[in-house]
Amino acid sequence: MNAHPDLIAQGEQTRKDIIELAPGIWTAVGYAASTVHMIEGATTVTIIDTTETTQGAENILAEFRKLTDKPVARIILTHSHRDHISGATIFNEGQDIPILASHLFKSDLVDVDDTIIAPNAALMRRTKMQFGIGLPDDQRISLGVGPGDRPMKGMGAGFLPPTDLIEQDCDIDLDGVSARLIHAPGETDDHMVVWLPDHEILFCGDNWYHAFPNLYAIRGTPYRDFQAWANTLTMLSELNAKTLAAGHTRPVFGAQNVHEVLTTTRDAIVHVMQFTADGLDKGLSLDDICSTLSLPDAIANKPWLKEFYGKASWSARAFAVGTLGWYDGNPTHLGTLSSSTRAAHMAQLAGGVDKLLHKAEQTDDMQWRLEICDHLLVLNEPVEEFKAQTLEALAEVEINATARNTYFSAAQQLRQIANSRS
Ligand SMILES: [Zn+2]
Repeated sequence: MNAHPDLIAQGEQTRKDIIELAPGIWTAVGYAASTVHMIEGATTVTIIDTTETTQGAENILAEFRKLTDKPVARIILTHSHRDHISGATIFNEGQDIPILASHLFKSDLVDVDDTIIAPNAALMRRTKMQFGIGLPDDQRISLGVGPGDRPMKGMGAGFLPPTDLIEQDCDIDLDGVSARLIHAPGETDDHMVVWLPDHEILFCGDNWYHAFPNLYAIRGTPYRDFQAWANTLTMLSELNAKTLAAGHTRPVFGAQNVHEVLTTTRDAIVHVMQFTADGLDKGLSLDDICSTLSLPDAIANKPWLKEFYGKASWSARAFAVGTLGWYDGNPTHLGTLSSSTRAAHMAQLAGGVDKLLHKAEQTDDMQWRLEICDHLLVLNEPVEEFKAQTLEALAEVEINATARNTYFSAAQQLRQIANSRS
């Protein structure tokens, strides 16, 4: 199975490794979707983040236990995403220990109030597709910022709610290691980073990882505040950390390197905002904004800004919707055609359904082929296999892991439909 060479190379960022950041401070990379960090104090240790599965947490704890047998005194959660909060019942080793998080912490594991109407089934379906759950190993090679191959046992099972909600930035003693907890809204509003001033080590959660920031996740996320994230990256860069331990991917060493990855990522976010705002101000369509958006030359080739996880064009759409809402300024879009009416018009324009199919077969433009296939499917033409092949062709050259996983998952579903018909 083919894959984008840069996405294959990104696998190095999530290779299994226990990395010493300083004497007594380690980070576990590649054992689960997210990283886990351990800080050794005088007689106890502190754990930062806990992975998405109890199996992943068990595997990491076993590695940490080779380094020290001091008991875990506390857990700090950088934010509420499932891949960071689901192994607390393993790391607490059966003890009642404090779990610290931002006062804004809002777990995505807490059952949603069933009086609130929300598209929960859609979110579940899209999440599975984004992460490639159910795909064969040769297709699910990467999560973008995590290994495709990782334990799935105990997914979401080891969550414990925070016991200590931190309202103000504060200094805290981790059994002899000075730390500062700093609110840092970014990928989520409830981010709280951990700064070790004596070691100049920053645990930044998901406000930075080795990939274009996931300003919009295709599983379906509400608007992430781009400006807040950019401001946070400026604030974090001003700490002048010598080591940056991210919530995913390998740590960054060296003050200059840390400063560069943080400020260029901020610059990328600001560029997307400015480019999109300028385009909207000029009255351009979102399709034209997204199809012409690229990063400035100065940062375009930075390996940590490649679109393994987030994507600039998706971010532009999210920024437009997050600031102006869904209406794109073109009054054509104030009215609505149903999919079947539009497909019927398209077939008529092509000179019939057969001619429309022929156009799809003839074109080398994979995106256009997908769009024609969608019309044909609405018209009950059996093009599932044809669309599945097109999606797979796109997946094989796609640098973005969540798009790749989604293309392959959609292809799998289309084949199931085709098979159930025959
Ligand atoms: Zn994460």
